[in-house]
Amino acid sequence: MNRRNFTLVLAGFALSPVWFNRVHAGSGESAVRHDKLVRTAEEWRRLLTPAQYNVLREEGTERPWTSPLNDEKRAGTYLCAGCELPLFTSETKFDSGTGWPSFYDVIAGAVETKRDFKLIWPRTEYHCARCGGHHGHVFNDGPPPTGLRYCNNGVALTFLPDEA
Ligand SMILES: [Zn+2]
Repeated sequence: MNRRNFTLVLAGFALSPVWFNRVHAGSGESAVRHDKLVRTAEEWRRLLTPAQYNVLREEGTERPWTSPLNDEKRAGTYLCAGCELPLFTSETKFDSGTGWPSFYDVIAGAVETKRDFKLIWPRTEYHCARCGGHHGHVFNDGPPPTGLRYCNNGVALTFLPDEA
């Protein structure tokens, strides 16, 4: 995590009560339920690239500015690279300047969240509602209308452009 993100996270933490409520009210978690897709670690290793495995199954973080999806501007849908569940639409993608593909909203019910204390201060981790694959963290410094920023590892997504 670079200094800019560190500062953003600290800013979010300072607003903690607001942050907590908005994150949990805004992500549309309750709308849709997906059946769980369960695979063994061995199966996932076979199906995913090492980089995908590191993010999706081990909660790794790709280096910023490495994903070609940072510059993806076409209309379409972003799917979980683990199970192809649609997570985001291109309408909610925005340029966050962080070096990771960023979205201000998620398709209803597509992700679940948990508190993550890996960096000592709490962050809200989110993962695919179907396969449980880790995708990123959600912060409260995003643009309207939600004010949320889903900071997603590009390697964990597959982009499906709309038909021309
Ligand atoms: Zn998935």
